[in-house]
Amino acid sequence: MQIRDAIQQASQALALSSESARLDAELLLCKVLGKNRSYLFAWPEKELNAQQQASFQTWLEQRRQGMPIAYLLGYREFWGLDLEVTAATLIPRPDTELLVQLALERMSALTAPSILDLGTGSGAIALALAKERPDAKLLALDKSAEAVAVAQRNQQRLGLNNLRLLVSDWFSAVPIASRFDLIVSNPPYISENDRHLFEGDVRFEPRSALSSGVEGLDDLNYIIQTAPNYLNAQGWLLLEHGYDQGLAVTKLLKMTGYTEVACYPDLGGNDRVSLGCYPL
Ligand code: GLN
Repeated sequence: MQIRDAIQQASQALALSSESARLDAELLLCKVLGKNRSYLFAWPEKELNAQQQASFQTWLEQRRQGMPIAYLLGYREFWGLDLEVTAATLIPRPDTELLVQLALERMSALTAPSILDLGTGSGAIALALAKERPDAKLLALDKSAEAVAVAQRNQQRLGLNNLRLLVSDWFSAVPIASRFDLIVSNPPYISENDRHLFEGDVRFEPRSALSSGVEGLDDLNYIIQTAPNYLNAQGWLLLEHGYDQGLAVTKLLKMTGYTEVACYPDLGGNDRVSLGCYPL
C-alpha cells in the first residue's frame, strides 16, 4: 500500500471517532515511518512494507478506541516545548499557557525569583517558566512518582537546570522554612460527577489529575488555605480552574486574605486562571 492510500483509508477509519481524523492519521503514519509530515507529502507513492502496515493498523485501532493522540505519539507541544507525556500525566492544554503568561508578568520585576509548581505532571508549567527565566529557582512537585519521572526526562532533554523535581503530596516534601515568590498550580478541579470525565481524551487521563470533590474545589481550596505558609511577603498564588469556578475561587482567595485578587479568561473567553497576592 502507498502512503497516499494509507492516509486516505486511515482518515476514513477514524472519521467517526476523531475530529482531526486526517491529521491523526498522518501523525501516526509519521510515527510508524520515523519521518516528518513533509516526507508524507513529498513521497505519496512510496510503498509501506508489511511490518509498517501492521503497526500502522495497531496504532489506528487504539486511536479508534479513543486513546488520545498525545499518548499514542508520546509527546505534546506546550509553550513551544516538545514534552513527553504518558498515561501517568495530564495532557498539557493550550489554556494553561495563560497561567504561564500571567506568572511571567507577576515576576517581571523580580530577579532570581523562587517558584513552586504544585502537581506538575509532565512538568509543562514549571519547564516553560524555567525556560523563560533562567535566573529563576524552581521546585516542582507531584504526588505521582511516574509523573515526576516523566517531568525529569523532559527536564533533561530540554537541558533546564534551574528546576528541582520531587515526589510530594501537595506541600509535604517542601523543605522546612522554604518560601517562594510565586506558587503556581493547575490542580484537579473537575467535579467528580461531571460527565466530561467520561468523554473524549479525558477518559484516558489520570483521574487523580482531573477531579477533586463534589464541586471540584477541594484541592483548589486546600492550596489557597495552605499557600500563605510558603509565600514570601507580597508573594503571588496563581491557579488554573474550571470555566465556572472563577467566582468561587476569587471569593476563597479574598476570604483567606489575598489582595489584588483577579480572574482571567482563556483564549476561548472562559474564566480560567485566578490569582492573588499574599501581603505578609
Ligand atoms: N482543563 C482540563 C479539562 O477540562 C482539566 C485540567 C485539570 O483538572 N486540571 O479537561
